[in-house]
Amino acid sequence: MSKDMDKARTRGEVTRREPMRFAPDEKGALGKLFAPVAGFGITISSMFRPTVTEQYPFEKVPTQPRYHGRHQLNRYDDGLEKCIGCELCAWACPADAILVEAGSNSLDGQFSPGERYGRVYQINYLRCIFCGLCIEACPTRALTMTNEYELAGPTREGLIYEKQDLLAPMEPGMLAAPHPMVEGTTDDDYYRGEVTGPTTEQIDWVRANRPEDPTLKDASAAKGDRP
Ligand code: SF4
Ligand code: SF4
Repeated sequence: MSKDMDKARTRGEVTRREPMRFAPDEKGALGKLFAPVAGFGITISSMFRPTVTEQYPFEKVPTQPRYHGRHQLNRYDDGLEKCIGCELCAWACPADAILVEAGSNSLDGQFSPGERYGRVYQINYLRCIFCGLCIEACPTRALTMTNEYELAGPTREGLIYEKQDLLAPMEPGMLAAPHPMVEGTTDDDYYRGEVTGPTTEQIDWVRANRPEDPTLKDASAAKGDRP
């Protein structure tokens, strides 16, 4: 279009309409009849469908079994922690959401099989994108993910989960750490699943060092039941 034509159009001297390039299809008789209410089509058709109302949070729908929810730090059957503080999960995390500081196990304070345990373990759920790369990186299957998805809170600090928030609950018969490893075993035996529960020696050690430990009674009873 020339500049003169542009100026003439601006002055309102050009009245010729250009042809429409994408003209809509011509409506039929029914189309013309219902055109004024066509915008209600979806609304009206929905009135004859079954009503679906989610009652969350009063009724929760189960997730898929492999849904990536809150993390969990697992334990062996005798109660020792699986985390060895290696930090591989933190290095694998693309969102820099995990902080691990390892501590050294000692005879008086054995929290996990082997030399080290996760002394500090934090996951920042303001950063986590639930990709699961951290659980893939964990060499001892200490870190897994649960199906728990209700991760919200009124403060930013509250969404930084500490080790005590992530540790798996004690199963019946487990003996709370710290306590020595099962006598005569190495960490390899633990990884291979050869430890199936606390031994009498471990129970006696806890009884001597922490007589008030609430897991003692249950572990002793379970030991009595085991062959
Ligand atoms: S799930 Fe992904 S983002 Fe979240 S802590 Fe693990 S590696 Fe990081
Ligand atoms: S959770 Fe696994 S990868 Fe992370 S520090 Fe513990 S043992 Fe290492």
